Amino acid sequence: MIQVEKNNEQLIKLANKYGTPLYIYDTCKIKKQYQKMLYAFKNIKKNFLINYACKANTNLNILKFLQKLGSGLDTVSIQEIEIGLKAGFLQNKIIYTPNCVSINEIKKAVELGVKINLDNISILEQFGEYFPNYSIGIRINPHIMAGSNPKISVGHIDSKFGISYYQIPHIKKIIRNTRINIDGLHMHTGSDILDIKSFLDGAKILFQIALDFPDINYIDLGSGFKVPYTKGDRKTDLSCLSKIIIQEFNNFCKNYNKNKKDKDITLIFEPGKFLVSESGYFLVSVNVIKHTMSTVFAGVDSGFNHFIRPMFYDAYHNIENISNPSGCFRYYTVVGYICESDTFGFNRKIAEIHEGDVLCIKNAGAYCFSMSSNYNSRYRPSEVMIINGKDFLIRKRETMKDLLQNIVEIPI
Ligand SMILES: *Cc1c(COP(=O)(O)O)cnc(C)c1O
Repeated sequence: MIQVEKNNEQLIKLANKYGTPLYIYDTCKIKKQYQKMLYAFKNIKKNFLINYACKANTNLNILKFLQKLGSGLDTVSIQEIEIGLKAGFLQNKIIYTPNCVSINEIKKAVELGVKINLDNISILEQFGEYFPNYSIGIRINPHIMAGSNPKISVGHIDSKFGISYYQIPHIKKIIRNTRINIDGLHMHTGSDILDIKSFLDGAKILFQIALDFPDINYIDLGSGFKVPYTKGDRKTDLSCLSKIIIQEFNNFCKNYNKNKKDKDITLIFEPGKFLVSESGYFLVSVNVIKHTMSTVFAGVDSGFNHFIRPMFYDAYHNIENISNPSGCFRYYTVVGYICESDTFGFNRKIAEIHEGDVLCIKNAGAYCFSMSSNYNSRYRPSEVMIINGKDFLIRKRETMKDLLQNIVEIPI
């Protein structure tokens, strides 16, 4: 099996074959990550589920690949559900955990027959009136501040996500009023969480709350696993985390079943970034080298229209010059071609860059293409998937036809 990671030549070949800017996903890495997580939780194999959070990368082929591996799907919009069904996920393997969507969209999710986690009292009450017989999960806000950036910290006390655990009495009142059946509890506290304690604190809160609900089938602990962005960068310690979580989960199951009939409760995680981030490579070509008073800029044929994480989240993505990997290192600020500040990396030590070189931006599998746009009327890049070392085009580069497709031209 060819390992893209160690093979600049293969990447250059793909850049020549498909042109730049270009996204490449190595399925070998996705499979490895999936198996790593399964292995960490092998002791609860029977009742353990990995639901791929597909907002990280919604290419249909990525979904199909994960479906074949046995994954379930975590979705946040009705469109993601539809893509998931098209990719072959069964209804009962899809969970829909939306935020601030209308009751009408939720009604559509009921029609599609997927599992639903609701995250606010208002919709829960309405849902109970419409569908008293449709079992529902609740997204709990455990009031935990976690995550590397405020934009992706979603479980703190002032967050718009989840129902506060102080509002459990209100949830119970809705159950009494509408006879709705709560069969799952969910939390998701953010992304890039390094601190295992955050997971654990949240999990303990959920296990505690679950004792109060007699019909629980699943506990969904969300995600936020941190992956390394550079050599030696830290990541969530999965084996340590799984040990503690398994212990807490087993204790909970014992407690839960004390007064009730024996019941298999499923533990769910819904990783996005963990599964696909490191599988991705974003290749761009250098258009211009430009010197200013203090800086050498490398200007590339892309920008935050294709890859917004460095600009939006201050995310650090490694950048390598794969055209000249053995060149001597120089300092560059790598910028895009968008007419606005769009810096991929400030003051980076990169092997000497010449105009025309191809740069490779790492960790490009999650929240990269899926957050891209047509700003500056640029086409979105094509995507290539590598399966057992072979490359397959999985999305064509856009054309002017795509840009104008929905424009309605009126006589002016
Ligand atoms: C985004 C999201 C995830 C995935 O988060 P990652 O940090 O990519 O693993 C999981 N669950 C929900 C509800 C989400 O919104």
